[in-house]
Amino acid sequence: MSLRTTKENLGGSCPVCEEVTRLSEGVEESEILTCHNCQSQLVVASIDNRVVTLEEAPAMEEDWGE
Ligand SMILES: [Zn+2]
Repeated sequence: MSLRTTKENLGGSCPVCEEVTRLSEGVEESEILTCHNCQSQLVVASIDNRVVTLEEAPAMEEDWGE
């Protein structure tokens, strides 16, 4: 499996399903996002030279109320 990189979008691999999730340009460390593939809550662990590392977000006690 190869990671595709584009000039417009940052991307990070979901640690749960390994799907590459596209991220907006202004994404910041500690930002919470949702994997579009498996719906896991992910946290941006680090951003280094446009390589984004995602980790599974710790379970929230609060209900986000979908
Ligand atoms: Zn996923």
